Amino acid sequence: MIIIMLGAPASGKGSVAGVLSERYNIPSISTGDIFRKNISEGTELGILANTYMTKGELVPDDVTVDMIVSRLEDPDVENGLILDGFPRTVYQAEKLDEILEEKGKKIDVVVNLESVEEELLTRIVNRRVCSNCKATYNTVLQPPAIDGICDKCGGELIQRDDDTLEKAVNRIQVYKTQTAPVADYYEKTGVLFTTLLSERANRMKNEVANDVVEYLNNK
Ligand code: AMP
Repeated sequence: MIIIMLGAPASGKGSVAGVLSERYNIPSISTGDIFRKNISEGTELGILANTYMTKGELVPDDVTVDMIVSRLEDPDVENGLILDGFPRTVYQAEKLDEILEEKGKKIDVVVNLESVEEELLTRIVNRRVCSNCKATYNTVLQPPAIDGICDKCGGELIQRDDDTLEKAVNRIQVYKTQTAPVADYYEKTGVLFTTLLSERANRMKNEVANDVVEYLNNK
């Protein structure tokens, strides 16, 4: 099972990926999380990635593709995987096809998460992430029981460096110009499943994940 999560920043990719990861018992791989781990460990990759991420820009394609190639060698992806935040450019999508073809694998579904644009900025600036287990919260819609503390592991909740208003505006713009065309790319190969996650429309992660499962069952 290979699932790709596509969508704007804070469209809910990670949340839906989490539900699907449990449902299919496959790992969810977030390129953003891998970059952030490298940044916190001060690796060469982290130092390079940070120069782009702090501006809300994409890390260069070659660096990102190399990172994914190496991650896909790990034994835990043998039975399947979810990619959350990759590919983010048409070039990355083409490279991913090449990598999977070499392995004799193919994508089952690309979940294209649409969102109500006005909801994105609020979701980004209100997002808090557990510094330990990476669980996400929203200070308004989904606050933790104790302010600043993760319900799941007791870790400290922090705001991501790029979750500020100014950087969020740039990240949404980058999504529109560089990532939105990836949906057209997958539309042509017939694996695109477009759906909506929206508080306003009351469509939350479990409902979206159920729709993805139904799509896969009917394929
Ligand atoms: P995310 O956690 O998915 O919101 O990603 C945070 C940041 O990591 C993005 O704004 C980019 O700077 C970088 N990043 C994550 N995935 C990619 C990717 N596939 N290509 C390039 N940059 C990426």
